[in-house]
Amino acid sequence: MRRDVSELTNKLDIEKISSLLDIPEHSITGALKRKTIQYVYGKHELFRFDKPVSSVEGGTAVFLEPFEIVRGFPKISRTLMLYPALIKHFSSCDKVAVEEKMNGYNVRVALIGDKLVALTRGGFICPYTTQKVNDLIGPDFFHDHPELVLCGEMVGPDSPYVPKIFYNIESLDFFVFDIREKNSGNPVPVMERRKLMDEFRIKSVHLFGEFEVEKAHDAITDIIKGFGDTLREGVVIKDPKMILPPVKYTSSLSNCADLRYAFEFYNDFGRDFFFGRVCREAFQSVEWDEDEESARKRCQELGESILLPMISTIKKKKNGERIAENVQLRVKSLKTITEFEEFLKLLGIDAVFEQPEMIGNEFLVRIKKIHQSTNDKTEMILGGHMWS
Ligand code: ATP
Ligand code: MG
Repeated sequence: MRRDVSELTNKLDIEKISSLLDIPEHSITGALKRKTIQYVYGKHELFRFDKPVSSVEGGTAVFLEPFEIVRGFPKISRTLMLYPALIKHFSSCDKVAVEEKMNGYNVRVALIGDKLVALTRGGFICPYTTQKVNDLIGPDFFHDHPELVLCGEMVGPDSPYVPKIFYNIESLDFFVFDIREKNSGNPVPVMERRKLMDEFRIKSVHLFGEFEVEKAHDAITDIIKGFGDTLREGVVIKDPKMILPPVKYTSSLSNCADLRYAFEFYNDFGRDFFFGRVCREAFQSVEWDEDEESARKRCQELGESILLPMISTIKKKKNGERIAENVQLRVKSLKTITEFEEFLKLLGIDAVFEQPEMIGNEFLVRIKKIHQSTNDKTEMILGGHMWS
């Protein structure tokens, strides 16, 4: 629904938001004009921050009825060189907490009025995730703590965004890695957060342990090497008090898996995925002091992750196939599917939904997400067009 800015400004109590988020009023009005803050209408009326505005994270959602602010999930910096980064970044801590970085999609769950809603990273309410979260999390936690937001990773095969089978999760599960206050976004300390989740029988991401900063490097290197050829993604290293921002560090194997995915749909994702991931491999090789054989093996794996999926995509297109990503959802009610279809349209994602299949008392729905840019580019080049 299109609204002009003056109508939107009437809806928003700009003074209140400005004071709660501690940003100047003109930043908010300016962002509304530039559509950096966007109005979204559905079961809930909300304004979402498409990008950061002053110091407030992108993905922030301001709900109107009732008035609630759920802050966007902050970006986590990545280290490529573990040892010096740990020493430099966590110098003021005695210890760091090392948690598993699970590979799924980021979800914030909050109570808005009497409804539990699940927000994606971008600050949209995803109807599928909201339904799953309502099945997974009982009302008790939010009954006692309506002012808190659960931030976690949605992981498993029945995932519309990041499907992964290697965690042995049957459908989709939610693992909390952060609890933050509404409005301020202030985090709860690591052990307090984990204890709280245990009390309410809500799952947390795995904790590898708390380590003295000086010893954390060896521990983390062992953890990452210990992942072996499983695709576990990596770790997030945290100040136990959650005062300093966390840092992430990931494995080469999951890095290559991301590249294989990105280069299957090379013209949609390849460019964004490429440079940073190549750099990670180079620094890790040096930090691990690899001999020539190990370094060559790394090069070969990196190269294969980039070229093989792309070659396969080109061949598929040459055989007249449409390049699409297969994902699946599992729901109790088909209404969730209809809502999710609408939601993908709102996001501008092109998808083909197949007929639902009954599995036990649930429906499994397969979806083909069409990555148009890769389809178009490949077809053009195969047809003799120039690259640029
Ligand atoms: P970011 O902007 O946070 O860097 P990204 O999409 O580039 O996001 P990733 O490389 O996936 O991110 O790393 C950050 C994400 O990892 C978080 O946003 C969160 O969804 C996810 N995550 C998984 N496990 C954890 C954990 N234990 N602690 C914090 N974040 C975690
Ligand atoms: Mg991720």
